[in-house]
Amino acid sequence: MAAQQSQVPTDLLDTDSAGFASLDLNARLLRAIAKLGFNHPTLVQSSAIPLALQGKDILARARTGSGKTGAYCMPVVQKILLAKEAGRSAPAVRALILVPTKELAEQVLKHVKDLTLYAKEVVAINLGSSDQSTANQRAILAEKPDIIIATPSKILAQLEAGNVVLKESLESLVIDEADLILSYGYDEDVRKVLSHLPKIYQSSLMSATMSDDVDALKQLVLRNPAILKLSEAPA
Ligand code: ADP
Ligand code: MG
Repeated sequence: MAAQQSQVPTDLLDTDSAGFASLDLNARLLRAIAKLGFNHPTLVQSSAIPLALQGKDILARARTGSGKTGAYCMPVVQKILLAKEAGRSAPAVRALILVPTKELAEQVLKHVKDLTLYAKEVVAINLGSSDQSTANQRAILAEKPDIIIATPSKILAQLEAGNVVLKESLESLVIDEADLILSYGYDEDVRKVLSHLPKIYQSSLMSATMSDDVDALKQLVLRNPAILKLSEAPA
């Protein structure tokens, strides 16, 4: 019997593939994925992960519930784990995941924690967590977590206050639910956040829909991306 019932519709699972084991992920990450009860990658995962691991920028459109969180979190975690295993372990913020709401930030943090169950040296924080005072946030940022998950406005406030610097260390940027980020009016904040990032970093833009606005954002953050258009949102 499966350890956990998959919540993904079976038509979104890539059951033809040899499974996660064929994706060249770190053994500790694979253990955590197995522990989650994920037997097969979803289609967006099996197409995005190998490309992201090769260093490609990714633009993925896939409907809600298709496993986009794992598709971007797994390569981000893998990259940080490999850097740490190779001895590049000085504390530094290496990844920024932008999300439209603090609730989603909480869900993404949970997913990262599940994925790093056997790799506790990878530290992720949700900047928008409501139980954090400003002073507390400053203290947390001073410890330089590997991964910051935040809404554009939360990270921008901390960048502008000088409580976190991303210019030297950031290696990965993810914009999740890009369509919602834009429709919530975060456009200007995202542009300002980008001005605090290094010249070169790997980025992923995930969206359930593709609008002209998402296209404009794509021009700003992606370099020669792999474009993955999977299932549309059901009509
Ligand atoms: P999206 O961001 O595309 O809306 P999520 O990343 O939130 O989708 O994933 C939807 C659900 O599917 C979550 O409950 C997640 O834990 C589960 N899930 C993700 N990947 C897999 C997988 N490979 N196998 C089984 N379940 C998965
Ligand atoms: Mg999602």
